[in-house]
This record gives sequence, C-alpha cells and structure tokens, in this order.
Amino acid sequence: MEVAKTIVSVRGLVKAARSKGKRIGFVPTMGALHIGHIFLIETAVKKSDFVVVSIFVNPAQFGPGEDFEKYPRPLEADLEICRKAGVDVVFAPACRQMYPSENLTWVNVEKLTEQLCGRFRPGHFRGVTTVCAKLFNIVAPDIAFFGQKDAQQAIVIKRMVVDLNVPLEIVVCPTVRSPDGLAVSSRNKYLTVEQKKDAAFVYKSLQKCREMVDVGITDSRTIITEMRKILSRALSIEIEYISIVDAETLQELDRIGRRVLVAVAVRIGSTRLIDNILVDLSKQ
Ligand code: AMP
Repeated sequence: MEVAKTIVSVRGLVKAARSKGKRIGFVPTMGALHIGHIFLIETAVKKSDFVVVSIFVNPAQFGPGEDFEKYPRPLEADLEICRKAGVDVVFAPACRQMYPSENLTWVNVEKLTEQLCGRFRPGHFRGVTTVCAKLFNIVAPDIAFFGQKDAQQAIVIKRMVVDLNVPLEIVVCPTVRSPDGLAVSSRNKYLTVEQKKDAAFVYKSLQKCREMVDVGITDSRTIITEMRKILSRALSIEIEYISIVDAETLQELDRIGRRVLVAVAVRIGSTRLIDNILVDLSKQ
C-alpha cells in the first residue's frame, strides 16, 4: 500500500493503475476509521480493481465552535486498517495541499442542503461538496463509496455529480451499527459509557417508527410524537430534529409513502449525533 501526501503523487499512482485498465474505486473519509468505514472499503475492494482511500479532516465543513480541532486523527492506526483491508493508496494530504491559499471557488448544491442538517450547520454542505469536488478531480475515480449513515450528504453528492456531469458512479452503503443499534461514528469516541447508553435510544426511536409503519400508522406527526417519547427516556439527549422527508427531494412529508427518509439529529453533551432509516411503503 502506498501513502500519498501530495496531489502529484496520488495522481501519478492512479494514472499508472488506469493505464493497466484498472477500475478505480474511491472512499473519501476524515479518518478515525471504524467498522463503518471498513465496510465501505471492503465494498470498494470487491467492486473495483484499485482502491484509493482519502483521509482528510476538511476544515471547510466545520463551523465555528465545532470539533475541527479535537476531531481524532489516529493516522498510524488508520493506515494499518487500510493495509489489512487491501487498499492500494491512502491519500492523506495536509491542509496546505488541499487549500494552499484562500479558497475562492465553492461548489454549492441548492435546496437539498437547506433541509435537515443544513438548517443547523450553515456552510457544512458547501464544505463537503467543495472538498468532494476537489477530491474527485484529484483522484478521478470511476466509482466512489459513501455511507447511508450520512444520508443527506450522499443525496447531495449524488446530485452534485449529476449536475456537474462528473463521470462517476456513486454507491451508497448501508449503515453499520453496534450490537445495541447505535450507528458507528468517529464521534462516538467523545461519549462516556453512560452517554453511549443514551445514544442507543436514537436507533430505538427509529425502530419505533418502523414498528408503527408496520402496523399501518403513516401520519408523520403521530410517528414523530412517539419517537420524541422514546428519546425523552434518555436524559442526556437534546433533540435537534426529527424529520420525515422524501428521500430524493428532502421535502417534509405529512404522511409516510414511497421512499421516505426518517432522520434524527441529537446532541448529547457537546456531541452531535445523526442517524436515519429509509422506509418504503411500496416495499412493505
Ligand atoms: P467520515 O469519515 O465520518 O466523513 O465518513 C466517511 C464515510 O464513511 C462517509 O461516506 C460516511 O457516510 C461513511 N460512514 C460513517 N459512518 C458509517 C457507518 N456507521 N456505516 C456506514 N458508513 C459510514
């Protein structure tokens, strides 16, 4: 496995692989790799011939007062995980490689970034789409892998790729969870043992939604009220939002129907956690 710190070197490595006819798979991450990332990487290894993983804590997607400084950066452990998973190249640039001077060009996907997390993290998605556009231009992959855990991000990136005619297939992989249902996240490291127990209520609330839909309850308000009740059992949880939206347009829905995203964001102490499920009545 090669570790590329510069744009020139990762481009050279990808070019050599492509000249041998290899299909390039790409997994963008911010590091602090866990089983969720490993699932994405393993899928990339299966579906492509040459896998690039980027590890870059992107300052442009953090707001003032967010956790950019304290975000975990265990690079050596991450490299070991990538090696074991069969990655060909890890691209781990320094900030000055990605942003050598003040960034004046931004990629912004409208509408889809105004809902859900976009309401609470102004500028976040602009940072995500800009860094992904840069990474797609640098790595030039054929296929890139994202997690359903960050559902809005995946939807926004898919739209960016379509709107900007990027010749790239986006694959969205299912959310990997711990045995108690908690969606695995690099930010779970911030939680105490007690807070982790509370965090498991986020998935319990999503399961409650699924149970209600299974018995024919589809009214969003009724479902959200019951989900709130579940979350209120966890004393450290502060709800940011519970939203039932169309899985393509992200517009709020009064009633669950076809391809619906049920998304939750909470705060536990200073840690922000998100999770979601997809519900599709046509597949019941
Ligand atoms: P991050 O390093 O948090 O920016 O995440 C990098 C990629 O891993 C994103 O596409 C995430 O959606 C994905 N990811 C993070 N956590 C999970 C998880 N628990 N299951 C599946 N994918 C995940």
